[in-house]
Amino acid sequence: MFSACLHTKSILLWLIPILFAALFGIVNFIIHVNKSETSKRSDSKVSLFAGMLAGGITGVAISLATYIPYMMIILKILATAFASFTCLSLIIALANNILLGEPKKLLNAIKILAGFFYLESNNQGFFLQVMRGISRFTWELMQTITGNIYCQLRNAFGGVDKVVYFGGASFSIKESGDGSGISLGNNIQANIPGAYNKVAGELLLMHEYGHTFDSMRFGILYLPVPGLASLISAYRNVYNKATGICTHDSYWTERRANRFAARYFKRCGINWTDYDTPNRFAYYPRYK
Ligand SMILES: [Zn+2]
Repeated sequence: MFSACLHTKSILLWLIPILFAALFGIVNFIIHVNKSETSKRSDSKVSLFAGMLAGGITGVAISLATYIPYMMIILKILATAFASFTCLSLIIALANNILLGEPKKLLNAIKILAGFFYLESNNQGFFLQVMRGISRFTWELMQTITGNIYCQLRNAFGGVDKVVYFGGASFSIKESGDGSGISLGNNIQANIPGAYNKVAGELLLMHEYGHTFDSMRFGILYLPVPGLASLISAYRNVYNKATGICTHDSYWTERRANRFAARYFKRCGINWTDYDTPNRFAYYPRYK
């Protein structure tokens, strides 16, 4: 029995990386073939290899992690929570499709799920795309899982109009929203004020994308440190009606996100100095 257990474990050790590599590579490839906002025609083949490599290395890391005490329990809890909420959201989306003849919710749900395996294409080098793919399922695993569950639930209960891919992130967008948003791993849910046009140029989406760089830097500390601090700041937010400025706008986590976003979106022709000054419509300061 003991040897049988060892045998099963060694098979899993090989199987998980192979399955993960295939899944990551194929889904990333399909997304790039169907074009994310940042992909070029030549990106498809690269995306297959980048996804396979990221998936293979992640699979090995997950397999090895099961040997760390208590890690198996943590992974099981995360996997169970993810599977339960995702199934619930998919069932709601499917019922919506069958009973109301509305396919949008189901399509969004599938896109949110596939977004797990979507990597940045032409704006970052091959090595960095692979690194971000590995980081997503290891160092940033907590926010990756919670973010995906959050977006699925928002979609299931009517909080998402469309899902778009940009720069390795999956954006679940609600149009005509209140300007709020949340960024968890590569999952972004944003309630943009007007209609969606594209990510580059839409301040809220660019700002939320800026948070993804902190997710990569803080890793397992992202939720308890900047995440919790930002949540408390947003809860204690004070809105100044005369100036249209909120105290949360210039909180340190928000300024950091704006600085990352300014640096990234410069290549798209965005000049962030326009948003540094208090303005009724757009105030996303980088500095105090
Ligand atoms: Zn923010």
